[in-house]
Amino acid sequence: MVIFSEPHGPDGRDLQGHWVYAPLGELQVTGAGAYVVCHACGDLLTHISAAHLSRHDLTPSAYRQRYRLPAHLPLTSPAARARRTAVGNRRWGPAGDLRTPVLTRAHAYRAEVEARAHQRATELGYRDLHDCVRQLYRDQGQTLPEVALMLTISRRVLLRLLDEAGVARRDARFKAGRAQKKSDAV
Ligand SMILES: [Zn+2]
Repeated sequence: MVIFSEPHGPDGRDLQGHWVYAPLGELQVTGAGAYVVCHACGDLLTHISAAHLSRHDLTPSAYRQRYRLPAHLPLTSPAARARRTAVGNRRWGPAGDLRTPVLTRAHAYRAEVEARAHQRATELGYRDLHDCVRQLYRDQGQTLPEVALMLTISRRVLLRLLDEAGVARRDARFKAGRAQKKSDAV
């Protein structure tokens, strides 16, 4: 299946010889917003996930780069994105959420930080914040400061997210505070 010839070679491959199934520089949306088209295989997906891209030996950022998509373009269909945002807000709770009326100021701030980080994680193509920190830190081997910076969260928040995600830490120096609870064995 060859869909686009511009600006590729006449046989529908790009200059590196990869087949390209959707226009470069944009995410093709179909099914009234329900699906996006994977540039690498033509599949219709609600979300071009990191797991899906691993089948093409690509990370979300390598995918964006190869197909000339903006660095922060969400790889999620508009319909799915709206659903995820709603789910994320339930899970991570925007500040002032009526379901948690006794939030202290610190809690409200933390919820706001996490909601923003969750949004960022989904925009980067991850299922949620836990999935994101798990993949960046454990699977891609990024450092704590790198992951924290990418999500604009503090190291403390990141450590808690890693604990919640069941990811063991690589470096004992960053072991969080007094709760010396050993995270799961590697
Ligand atoms: Zn694909």
